[in-house]
Amino acid sequence: MILEVIVDISSGSIDRCFDYEGEDMPLGSRVAVEFGKKQLIGFVIGKKQTSQYKELKKARFLDAPISSEQLELLYFLRKAYNLRYIDALRLFIPAKLRDEKDPEYSRKYLTADDSRTLEQLMEVVGTRAQKQMEALNYIAANSGQFLNVLIAKFGASAIGGLREKGVVVESLVHERTSPLGSIDRVDKRVTLTEAQRNAVDRIESGSGVFLLHGVTGSGKTEVYETVIEEELKKGKSAIMLVPEISLTPQVLGLFRARFGDSVAILHSGLNASERYDEWKRLKSGEARIAIGARSAIFAPLENIGVIIIDEEHDSSYQSENNPRYDTKRVAEFRARSAGAKLVLGSATPDMETYMRATEGKYQLISLPERISKFSLPEMEIVDMVSEFRSGNKGMFSVTLKEAIGEALGRGEQVMLFLNRRGFASFIRCRECGYIAKCEDCDISLTYHMSEHELKCHYCGKRYHEITKCPNCGSDRIKQGKIGTEKVVEELLTLFPKARVLRMDRDTTGRKDSYFKILGSFAAHEADILVGTQMIAKGHDFGNVTLVGILEADAALYFSDYRASERTFQLITQVAGRAGRADKKGRVILQTYAPRHYVFRYGKSYDYVGFFKKEINTRLVTKFPPYTKIVRILVASSDEQDAVDCTKTVYKAVQQIEKERGKFVYLGAARSPITRMNGLIRYQVMARITPEEFALVIGDIYSAVDGVRPKDGSIFVEINPQSMA
Ligand code: ADP
Ligand code: ZN
Ligand code: ZN
Repeated sequence: MILEVIVDISSGSIDRCFDYEGEDMPLGSRVAVEFGKKQLIGFVIGKKQTSQYKELKKARFLDAPISSEQLELLYFLRKAYNLRYIDALRLFIPAKLRDEKDPEYSRKYLTADDSRTLEQLMEVVGTRAQKQMEALNYIAANSGQFLNVLIAKFGASAIGGLREKGVVVESLVHERTSPLGSIDRVDKRVTLTEAQRNAVDRIESGSGVFLLHGVTGSGKTEVYETVIEEELKKGKSAIMLVPEISLTPQVLGLFRARFGDSVAILHSGLNASERYDEWKRLKSGEARIAIGARSAIFAPLENIGVIIIDEEHDSSYQSENNPRYDTKRVAEFRARSAGAKLVLGSATPDMETYMRATEGKYQLISLPERISKFSLPEMEIVDMVSEFRSGNKGMFSVTLKEAIGEALGRGEQVMLFLNRRGFASFIRCRECGYIAKCEDCDISLTYHMSEHELKCHYCGKRYHEITKCPNCGSDRIKQGKIGTEKVVEELLTLFPKARVLRMDRDTTGRKDSYFKILGSFAAHEADILVGTQMIAKGHDFGNVTLVGILEADAALYFSDYRASERTFQLITQVAGRAGRADKKGRVILQTYAPRHYVFRYGKSYDYVGFFKKEINTRLVTKFPPYTKIVRILVASSDEQDAVDCTKTVYKAVQQIEKERGKFVYLGAARSPITRMNGLIRYQVMARITPEEFALVIGDIYSAVDGVRPKDGSIFVEINPQSMA
């Protein structure tokens, strides 16, 4: 039988298979092959009777890690996202299965045969075999070692010699270090409310895609868990995705308490063997629930009954690095082909998701009430322009200062939230609130310090830096961005006794420091937590009664068509942090644009009202979900090469447009970040209606595949989360 094999070479940019000879085996099988002079791993993706090549090498069957259902998903990924085989395959395989020819190798443990003395063993080995002698001494001195470590240290032939001579004893050590070992199991059984019961019933008796739209604290998690439980009873399995940042020890502990060993957790804190262990438990059916960040969508489960995506609006569900894919689309495909239900949950659904629900494509289930006896906290909006005019030049409004003082006086805690996104910043007038926007796109311009220019990230149009407000003539026009350090500084002068913690990218380089800061705040070791959007995600702090949002506008004027949507999501989420348990909460939101509709709807937590307004804006401005944005990013170390490649691609896309009908927008320009990692970046941007998109995307991929920068990269992004 001729096998068509994709060889796992990390560096190659080729996407082709090689013919090998081998026994008949299922597609997706993992094989050991000789490639050039190397022993490598490969995957069988096709079978045939004859080959045009002669004297084929042999492929040896190792195992079949990819099911036929997963293979279907793999073909979908290739087609929808133009992924290379190997990049798509790797999504399904734990790193361990790729790194090692034989994964059981690392479990084989060698000790010196203790029925004889070391002298006796040395005699058997003989002084002429020097390397073997060294290895034996090492093994004896260290009470043994893993086979793979020994081979790496002393070479395969020396270790092979010791094994042949029978001076070492082999045992299989299963070093399963439970990734959940240190997590508390706190089982918190509750009786479902009527709304929760109704949600569970609708999901259980139905099929297709559900949108669970529930305000923060409405008990969505309880609904997910009950649905999973019901599916398990039916003999099915389940996948639950959460944003990586929400995989806190508490959340994991709850799942562990409820589902015990039948849950496998895949998160970034696991090392390769832990990940492999969890993967194997899922593959063998020992664990039937996979919980994890976006990559858990590829979990090796069979007979899936439900896939749940919590916080479905979260941008982390879109993979922005190779392999690029949109987890929600992948989940939809997988659910459909497995006959499973898909549940998308959020307090602030993605515009596109909610639109589909209004169109009847998704089934909408609402949880409008909070579980706790306190309703959502009251949101107060403070106009920073009038604060500024009345002489308060600081970053805290009078209202917020007083509220912080009061909360601290009562021994309660405060969270101060500051939004900072991306690398650049918008320009704002502090006197009148004027914001510089693109004439063509009505999107805030981004200030590029190095070039002293303002740029529109959607059309590439450039504007001169402005030093005077075109609206009121004031020269108090500047970048509207402040940092967490400055907030802490000002805070400490106002409240010298307060214990302040800061959390942002700089203070949380490592994941455990993130948990450490949150843990210490939860233990009331600090009174005030100052942070970026990182602190907005679902953490429960019962003693927090005041939440202040300092830079509510920062997200609003971030140059992105989703700016309003993101702002609405952020303020809803942040506000949800106040008064979670038995104390009433208060939210103070400072803005230079108090009459902006985001705040009007945000204040009353009116998602539906906001949606109706915003979706209309998208329709008028022709942005998603009414169009799809396609960005082709070209990067090259040589500017001329980047320009040439961009021109070639642009012309090809223009040709596609000519054949298929006019796009909403098509243009080529330098990319907002012109230089990154030593490469010059250009881009072709297109906005296309969803119907046209389906027709042309294949052609666009082909066009892009035909162009290759000499030293750099080229790739296609669809509705990219960031325009940087
Ligand atoms: P969401 O995910 O919608 O923000 P959670 O699932 O975190 O809400 O629920 C909020 C709080 O209410 C949690 O502390 C949870 O344990 C509690 N809770 C959920 N359902 C119930 C219930 N039926 N009875 C009592 N408490 C509940
Ligand atoms: Zn002004
Ligand atoms: Zn523009």
